Amino acid sequence: MRDRANRAAIAYFALVHAAAVSGLLLPMRASLVALACALYAALHLSTIVGLHRLLSHRAFRCPRWVEYGLVSVAMISGQGSPIAWVATHRRHHAHTDREGDVHSPRRGLWYAHIGWIVDEGSTDPRDPERYCRDLAGDPYYRWLMRWRFAPQVAAVLLAGLALGWGAVPFVFFLPLVCWMHTTYLVNSACHAPRFGSRAFDTRDGSRNVGWVAALTFGEGWHNNHHAFPRAARYGMAPGQHDLAFLFIRALAALGLAWDIQPGPEGRGGARPRPSPYDSSIGL
Ligand SMILES: [Zn+2]
Ligand SMILES: [Zn+2]
Repeated sequence: MRDRANRAAIAYFALVHAAAVSGLLLPMRASLVALACALYAALHLSTIVGLHRLLSHRAFRCPRWVEYGLVSVAMISGQGSPIAWVATHRRHHAHTDREGDVHSPRRGLWYAHIGWIVDEGSTDPRDPERYCRDLAGDPYYRWLMRWRFAPQVAAVLLAGLALGWGAVPFVFFLPLVCWMHTTYLVNSACHAPRFGSRAFDTRDGSRNVGWVAALTFGEGWHNNHHAFPRAARYGMAPGQHDLAFLFIRALAALGLAWDIQPGPEGRGGARPRPSPYDSSIGL
């Protein structure tokens, strides 16, 4: 793996982690803690609702400006263009925990967590063409393919100019790193046999992990998601809280979301079905 390591990605991770740690060394103020928590929530909700449930799975429909707004906030995290993100995620669904999966713990928990991101061999440059043709013609997303760090640079500049440069490590990089690792837990812990449990007999190793769901606004009900990939709601049993779904419901109440895809409750019973990407990339 060493010869395939993406040194630029490793340097980036080292930099943002060092900045996050330095944020802990600075004196805290209640207003900055509130801003850091708000950024953590915004990064999760925009990634979960925008990149995952909307773009990757079309779990609901919304106005284009809402879609662009969610994606733009998610891009502050610097996690690559939406086209590459969606292609990688659909490939995960098409090959879950089998040969070809991008980030299965079968290659090790650490590899599933973060190793695959710094491994140039984990993805294929042809993935967007294979899995993401529906987004390939979008001019904004094509622009983000080239300038994927522009939203993050703009956010750092805005935070520095508005709050002072000394506040940036705590307000920006600390929540960014917390968001990173809690998001990565969905790929690692939620596919590892030692964590959580399974509600549906899917053809993969996906797990429902309550503490990951609590940290990720509902994404940790990952076995439910693999059983019903297009469902907008991931918390499918009593006590399975899913704040991201409540966010989608709030959008719907404002007239900003519709055609919300049901889970087992809308399909005549709790039977799992294969991912729509198993045999086709069609939506
Ligand atoms: Zn998914
Ligand atoms: Zn998965």
